[in-house]
Amino acid sequence: MGRIRILPDQVANKIAAGEVVERPASVVKELLENSLDAGATDLRVEVESGGRRLIRITDDGCGMLRDDALLAFERHATSKLRDVKDLLSIATLGFRGEALPSIASVSRLLLETRSADETTGTRIEIAGGKMLRCEEAALGGGTVVTVRDLFYNVPARRKFLRTEQTELAHIASLVTHYSLAHPDKTFRLASGPTELLHVTPAATLKERVYQVFGSQVLEELVDIGARERDLFLPPASVPPSETIAEYQRERGPEDDPPTRTFRLTGFFSRPQVQKANRNSIFIFVNGRLIRDRLLLHALSSAYHNLIPPSAYPFALLFLECAPEEVDVNVHPSKTEVRFRHGSFVHDFVRDTLRDRLMETRPAPTFSPAAPTTDLPSRAPSPQPAARLPYSEFSQMLENEAPAAVDSVLPEPAHRESPLPGFTLRPTAGPAPRLDFTAPPLEVTPGPPPSGKLSRHLDAHGEFPAEAIPPPEMSLSVLSDLRPLGQIHESFIIAAGRDGLWIIDQHVAHERILFEQVLKQRAAGRVEMQRLLMPLILQLTSEQQIDYARIADELHDSGFETEPFGNRTIAVKAAPASVGAADLEKILFEILEIAETELRGASLDDLRRNICASIACRAAIKINTRLDAAKMEWLLRALAATDCPMSCPHGRPIAMHYSTREILKAFHRL
Ligand code: ADP
Ligand code: MG
Repeated sequence: MGRIRILPDQVANKIAAGEVVERPASVVKELLENSLDAGATDLRVEVESGGRRLIRITDDGCGMLRDDALLAFERHATSKLRDVKDLLSIATLGFRGEALPSIASVSRLLLETRSADETTGTRIEIAGGKMLRCEEAALGGGTVVTVRDLFYNVPARRKFLRTEQTELAHIASLVTHYSLAHPDKTFRLASGPTELLHVTPAATLKERVYQVFGSQVLEELVDIGARERDLFLPPASVPPSETIAEYQRERGPEDDPPTRTFRLTGFFSRPQVQKANRNSIFIFVNGRLIRDRLLLHALSSAYHNLIPPSAYPFALLFLECAPEEVDVNVHPSKTEVRFRHGSFVHDFVRDTLRDRLMETRPAPTFSPAAPTTDLPSRAPSPQPAARLPYSEFSQMLENEAPAAVDSVLPEPAHRESPLPGFTLRPTAGPAPRLDFTAPPLEVTPGPPPSGKLSRHLDAHGEFPAEAIPPPEMSLSVLSDLRPLGQIHESFIIAAGRDGLWIIDQHVAHERILFEQVLKQRAAGRVEMQRLLMPLILQLTSEQQIDYARIADELHDSGFETEPFGNRTIAVKAAPASVGAADLEKILFEILEIAETELRGASLDDLRRNICASIACRAAIKINTRLDAAKMEWLLRALAATDCPMSCPHGRPIAMHYSTREILKAFHRL
């Protein structure tokens, strides 16, 4: 790392100004980022009292020369940036040169550092921004920053801190997620004597996810692998930020290469994992933990029609692109970014995730999946820090009261398993929720059989091991299911290659129709039927505005409509699958969707919602008797869909009770 310089005014003035030290976690974030920028491979974080009493970060990075160590506490002193041009391609996490002086002004700070280029180290003590001591010291390489009594001289700020546990949860979440962004480094977090996280260098992100969250969580995740998409320049779809615009004016015409490659890696959850808030979503852009509405929207669009709108996935996404493509100089805490080609980035992320989801096609099961076998068996359970589901970033996004958070820490042990039980409920209501923060679940085998009972069971004959098919997660096994009958004239019971299936006939048909309509819609040939008499609908003035906005979209979805006098429309034809009796309901439903969707969501979402509501109305209802041929048809058609695991509104379609689980339940395994 180069020597520290004070930024010239014209550069300093272009840096998004503002407070960086909001709470203990923001101190940890700035110090961790400094250590990472310094090339550290071993990072240790110690805190006491949720970081209020003490935060200490020890790294094995490049350290600082004596003069630099002194300069580091001046405002706008940085080794990472020189001129305005550098602001356009920031490759380091820091660049503002403000963190150390800001932290030192609201705490008692001790810096101990030694660069490999000097034989002795430097110790500097500062309290409330005043230098108390600066001396030579015999130190090892690297840097230790100790921050005590945060906000001791700013009582107003101290009052705003939440409980120690909440602050600790913020810190734990932060360190955990930085550890996920850097699988090749050692991270340790201790709160007093309690070690909350300790991960050693891992070869892959997958192994790091396993170290941090345990095998249970890994089972529930889809690995993106590494997906790339090239952007051919120009054009810019989003106006550049002020910084970029000004620089471009100074620099004149672009001499950029003609293509830019975007790359997405990481993990995200299967649709059956549904979280109540965004706290399990972590997005890194070029190694920087950020919160970004555009990317969050891309993520939720990927799950559109797979999970209910009120549910959120778990996601750990790493987007990489040329530093020029993303402006990080938007917000003082560097957690917001602006993409130069926002809609390209949005669609790339949405399409990549959607494609991967479709490729996996998993089914909900009745019990936890078998542990993974291709990973070492050590560290099978989540690290304590991974159970702290709270993040500074998601909280800012949520903007909602973190009600349950304060009670999270004291009881990290066993929570109620939120897995679906072997009970059938009416189809309304959300899909089963799996909780990533819960410890690995144990299959409940009932009371352990006594020796006598075991022998008795044995007398019934062992199930030949080779006859047990390996558990199959994919719904492709649906293709050779034999329907056995219906329960409640609503759920199809079927036997398959691997166990028993229960399929909700309405949502299954809904998924089949949804994909059919969507495909017809994309090919521009939706089957339509003319109405004998046009249907006349009276609209409110809001509905009329919405109608005008989506008239083309309605037409392309198979509805032939036209304005018919004041606030009235005539419907002359409708998609063939829609019954005349449902037509009015569907159209009003679509107008309602348009009203909410058009505010923020994309046309693509609106289109999918229109298709979903057509499919829902046209699908066979529950409480409908089906003969064997119909059930068979339904199962075949479902197996042929791209995504047979949940209905377009995100409800589960099929429940699977594998042979293995059946055997376990009967104590034959
Ligand atoms: P910035 O990170 O934006 O440059 P900071 O105030 O966080 O500003 O740090 C100022 C400078 O101090 C950095 O540019 C870097 O040169 C040096 N520095 C800070 N922390 C470390 C560290 N842990 N190891 C080595 N150098 C550091
Ligand atoms: Mg910094």
